[in-house]
Amino acid sequence: MLDQFGRDIRYLRISVTDRCNLRCRYCMPAQGVAWVDHSAILSYEQMVHIARLAAQLGVEKIRLTGGEPLVRKGLAGLVRDLKEVEGIRSVTLTTNGILLAQQLPELLDAGLDGVNISLDTLDKAQFTAITRRDGLEQVLEGLEAALAASHLLVKLNCVPSGENDNQLVPLAALARDHRLDVRFIELMPIGLGSSLPRRTESQVLDRLVEAFGPALPCPQGGGDGPGKYAAFSGFTGRVGFISAMTHQFCHQCNRVRLTATGFLKTCLQYEEGVELKPLLERGATDEALLHAIRTAIYAKPACHHFAAPRTAGDEQHNMNQIGG
Ligand code: SAM
Ligand code: SF4
Repeated sequence: MLDQFGRDIRYLRISVTDRCNLRCRYCMPAQGVAWVDHSAILSYEQMVHIARLAAQLGVEKIRLTGGEPLVRKGLAGLVRDLKEVEGIRSVTLTTNGILLAQQLPELLDAGLDGVNISLDTLDKAQFTAITRRDGLEQVLEGLEAALAASHLLVKLNCVPSGENDNQLVPLAALARDHRLDVRFIELMPIGLGSSLPRRTESQVLDRLVEAFGPALPCPQGGGDGPGKYAAFSGFTGRVGFISAMTHQFCHQCNRVRLTATGFLKTCLQYEEGVELKPLLERGATDEALLHAIRTAIYAKPACHHFAAPRTAGDEQHNMNQIGG
């Protein structure tokens, strides 16, 4: 459906949990995380119900995220059920990769279409410093397993946060050697991301051009969302940039988010949207739910204001509670 600015909303990100097995510095605090009570988290049945209604309004792509989606039991069952929703063409996953190798067979069997693996460094000590946990080998096993699944679309997401400057070239080189897109995501000032140094698209690009030669135009492809892609000579995959800070893409934003607690969130930066869980639990009719979803989507804010001072309605949660 179209929002008030004529943007066609076709993409729903569903956060299945706020829990995570890592503690990335820009996303979660080291200690003292206040987990949402289990009773406040949507059941898979409720998520599928909302997805079915969203599909009736034109949503055709769903991405599962978190927290870490693979720490919630039975995720493959959710993938399978979402794949059966009429109108949904693709169901994908964003994961830190720790549990991926172990769960990939059942996810593939359920029909998973793609996986984005978040990885900021190939250096073991740096991985531990950034994520405050061990697990680089498991992530790399997950990446290898994903690449071996020939029909699975695989992307790698890296947030350049000042701590991993020496890893930008080695990470991009993975797209030279493998059939995957490596994307650099500008750190956004949401939650803990506000207080860390960031690297801009042009700073990252300069390093890559120095290492690999000129960035060449390449097909942007369907379903790329806000990612802008470049090719380097001799590369198998592409290098992408998601640059919300320096190349704002709000005018073409086609997504909304469903948090694990059932809040349909229409823009990353604002606490704008509608609480769907109380409606579901009150036994609201599909007509009433569709009305609530339609009204919230229509009112989607025009754009973020990351570069301006924070205001009262800005998002107060950390990224693990929103889903990234
Ligand atoms: N745990 C999964 C993972 O790490 O892929 C899924 C959830 S995580 C919140 C989704 C994405 O958000 C990750 O790629 C992570 O790097 C990114 N992210 C977290 N905080 C961010 C921030 N402040 N700015 C930009 N990206 C951020
Ligand atoms: Fe967990 Fe993903 Fe946040 Fe890292 S970015 S702490 S893996 S939710």
